[in-house]
Amino acid sequence: MGDTSHTSADHLHRRGLMFVLSSPSGAGKTTLSRMLLERDSEIRLSVSATTRPPRPGEIDGVHYHFVSADEFQRMIDEDDFYEWAEVFGHRYGTPKGRIRAALKEGQDFLFDIDWQGTQQLYQKDQQDVVRVFILPPSIEELHRRLQNRATDSAEVIAARMERARAEISHWDGYDYVIVNDDVEVCFDKVRAILDAERMKRARQTGLIPFVRGLMA
Ligand code: 5GP
Repeated sequence: MGDTSHTSADHLHRRGLMFVLSSPSGAGKTTLSRMLLERDSEIRLSVSATTRPPRPGEIDGVHYHFVSADEFQRMIDEDDFYEWAEVFGHRYGTPKGRIRAALKEGQDFLFDIDWQGTQQLYQKDQQDVVRVFILPPSIEELHRRLQNRATDSAEVIAARMERARAEISHWDGYDYVIVNDDVEVCFDKVRAILDAERMKRARQTGLIPFVRGLMA
């Protein structure tokens, strides 16, 4: 960090952002999310609230915020979810309150969600959401990646391809679209988007006092 006797422009306070990565399965979203979480210390995965009981090894506040059914209902009533859904008899949702407080402190969040979740998130908070969509290089390559398990029947693979096509059809609901030819190149592009979005003037809340200092 070096000299701390003056304000460095690298350490100006900024508002965090909600970085959404979506793609059809097989296009590389999970790999890219993992790389981003490993290599970028300023972003973390958003932690959902759930009524599901913890599985062995799951930690409250790390894997999920484990809450009672009453507490979850109270959060719905108080409009404390960006979005929520019921899956296999348990409720899951993205809590607004915790994320809003952390965004203010400059924490960035990664969301590995589909187009529907993205739409809901964007409707609730346009200024903080950055939407990135990852496309496969070709339909043949996607097919090859979805064929990974030799035991899967042709029907299972065809159903996966159908789902992938449906997901791809929502590409135009995103701010950025990247074709994932090579995962390292694609990752560099994801990083470039994140870096640029962090520098947006409206997010750099520390600029006003900094510029005032420059002009004094
Ligand atoms: P699990 O109980 O295996 O951890 O998750 C079950 C399902 O709930 C998964 O398909 C997961 O994607 C979904 N899920 C987890 N958190 C959320 C959330 O915040 N919102 C929604 N809509 N689904 C979630």
